[in-house]
Amino acid sequence: MVPLTVGSKAYGTLVATLRVRVSVKHPKIHRLPTGKRAEPLGWGLKITTLGETCMAATTCGRCGKYSHMTSIGPAVTAEYASGAAHIIENPFRCDNCHGLNIGGARVLSLPMNTAREDAMGAYWHSQDPDYWHPQFVQGQDYPDVPDHVARPASEAHTCMSVSAYMSAILMARSVIEAVAKDNGIDSGNLFKKIDAMHGKGLINEFAKKTAHTIRTFGNDMAHGDFAVEVDSADAKGVVTFMDYILREVYQAPAELQRLQDAADARKTA
Ligand SMILES: [Zn+2]
Repeated sequence: MVPLTVGSKAYGTLVATLRVRVSVKHPKIHRLPTGKRAEPLGWGLKITTLGETCMAATTCGRCGKYSHMTSIGPAVTAEYASGAAHIIENPFRCDNCHGLNIGGARVLSLPMNTAREDAMGAYWHSQDPDYWHPQFVQGQDYPDVPDHVARPASEAHTCMSVSAYMSAILMARSVIEAVAKDNGIDSGNLFKKIDAMHGKGLINEFAKKTAHTIRTFGNDMAHGDFAVEVDSADAKGVVTFMDYILREVYQAPAELQRLQDAADARKTA
């Protein structure tokens, strides 16, 4: 076999044959050959081969997986917006769950034949949607947490995933209160309840500080004062520490119990 060196005639022929192009793509929206599973690539160079059918990929609003999206019909919306712009929206099918997603873009001019499925397939071959609907809403599973505590805790995560930061913090605060009540501590304000949880040995010193921080964050809002703005970092921190409390009170003891049961079963075997 003849070695392939850069600049040689064989190399030039190979490049011409493959017609390789290099493009910079956003980590969430890039093109992949049909049938291949899309994975985030991060900022950087991606090589695609002309002639392959490539389409958009995004985090599916139905299954939450980062998936290749197949354009499945004519444009549903193709209309004049404002500022010499048009809006074009199209149905896509997630390759992972087959759920329907809508992709859209603001464009300076509408493509031809928006009522034709094949024309739209070709259009999205050269243009990525700017936005997708629906947004994936992410809750959380807490298998060792009682349902009446797990549901609001999961909802705090759901609030986070749609950028409802005040609601996430308020829900996390309520979860701490629900944990106290679930453990027989139902008198006094939240400050006293947190100290009582520590006094009963339910939470350690660090978790106590954590719970008080969540209480402080949510306090103003719980009493109708929304003057101080909160951002995603605040809400993420509060929800993360809410998870820490749930782990401390429910999940870690349950995991330890399972381990002890397994050890006991070995002894008697
Ligand atoms: Zn999906």
